[in-house]
Amino acid sequence: MDPVLEELIREIEAFRADVRHMPVVPPAVFHELSEELAAQFDLSRPYPLLLLLRKVAALMRRWNLHNTHPRYFGLFSPATKPASVIADALVALYNPQLAGWYASPIANEIEQFTLRALAGRLGLEECPLAAHFTTGGAEANMTAVLAALNQAFPGYAEAGLRAMEDQPVFYISEEAHGSFVKVACATGLGHAAVRRVPGDSTNRMDVAALASAVEADLSDGFAPFMVVGTAGTTASGAIDPLASLASFCQEQRLWLHVDAAWGGAAVLSPRLRGHLVGIEAADSISWDAAKWLSVAMGAGMFFCRHPRAVRDAFHVDASYMPSRCVDGRDPYVSTMQWSRRFIGLKVFLTVAEMGLDGLGQEIDRMASLGDVLRNKLVMDGWEILNDTPLPVVCFTHRLIGNGKIPPADVLKCLLSGGSAWLSSVELRGVGTALRACITNYQSGLEDVSFLVRTLSKILSDLSDGTSSLGSSGPLSPIP
Ligand SMILES: *Cc1c(COP(=O)(O)O)cnc(C)c1O
Repeated sequence: MDPVLEELIREIEAFRADVRHMPVVPPAVFHELSEELAAQFDLSRPYPLLLLLRKVAALMRRWNLHNTHPRYFGLFSPATKPASVIADALVALYNPQLAGWYASPIANEIEQFTLRALAGRLGLEECPLAAHFTTGGAEANMTAVLAALNQAFPGYAEAGLRAMEDQPVFYISEEAHGSFVKVACATGLGHAAVRRVPGDSTNRMDVAALASAVEADLSDGFAPFMVVGTAGTTASGAIDPLASLASFCQEQRLWLHVDAAWGGAAVLSPRLRGHLVGIEAADSISWDAAKWLSVAMGAGMFFCRHPRAVRDAFHVDASYMPSRCVDGRDPYVSTMQWSRRFIGLKVFLTVAEMGLDGLGQEIDRMASLGDVLRNKLVMDGWEILNDTPLPVVCFTHRLIGNGKIPPADVLKCLLSGGSAWLSSVELRGVGTALRACITNYQSGLEDVSFLVRTLSKILSDLSDGTSSLGSSGPLSPIP
């Protein structure tokens, strides 16, 4: 075999095994990196690929926050299955162009086949459906706003916002994802068009507050067109009351978009599915397989009951494109992207290898591990600050709450030890919380126990004044 391929296979196998024994956190001297690169590579001359592969592997191993590590309790970019590694290699190999259906019928059909199976679990099987892969949740959210604008204002695609008499506005919860702020800017709606609806005590959108906001906007001459419910907020896993939002939106003739970027995976789990009831009534849904389905990043998905509105948003005529399918099957006329990578293969392979129910069992197991984490924290004297069935835990401690120990100090100690990673988050009405999330299918009981033990030790060292805060670099040696 080609020695480069042999080396690649060796690294794929070795890294997957090694990562558990490596520090999660890289050494904190990033400023040296550009010098290190300049010392290793002179880009005016060529290098053998085998050497480059070894160098890149060594650099990635050392200078990366290892979010595939089972003790990375951070945001949603967990370990991937080998299916993703294989898929991304094959995609680079065949490099299929999915812009037009004609250029890669099989890739386009594998994507639609996969999306229809997932749409079925969302409860969208009985309706006309537009579905496609996106770079991530942010692109899917952008697509939703554009489709909703086209549905509500049929002249939008042609004449744009400036032809409208009333300023369109849309509603999101206070914990909704920041991508909607970018979307408001990119669509020309402007940040002022984003209405943040207050939540209840568990940060779920308050439907009564939504109703009065819509009423006030209507009487002030604004044009409400869309409500975004989040199924699993990024910060605390709050699930907005989707069924109530759906009936409110039907009454008011507003588009309901559900941002289920990470929480969407819960529909695969028998135990969690009930918490997302109402999602099937959404006009559109964002779901990102990279967040909680063990798929490599760049695996967003957009689902919509109104193919016509999506087509209106993206329709274009290009005489140089080889096929122009009359039924809108060409992704370049029904999505944001033009040249289109075969994003769906890694999702297809992951789903097909596990089966949707098999993936659902893994989701279940991670949710249970989240419960274990909550229980262990409480038993060790920590206090849980959020309320969600999803495995994201926001917590604090009496010693932190009374101002004795800043949460940033706890984090600093943990990260300088390098053996686990989590983040902090600002929760409305509560302040700073530590936040640990389990989305890695390889995280186990021992990882959760380790985390709680380590945090409690750090806390007791900090309160005794025996902490070595600030004096130590990474504790684990780096090979
Ligand atoms: C991560 C996230 C997004 C953005 O998705 P990307 O894949 O990062 O573009 C949107 N909404 C929610 C709720 C998220 O958690």
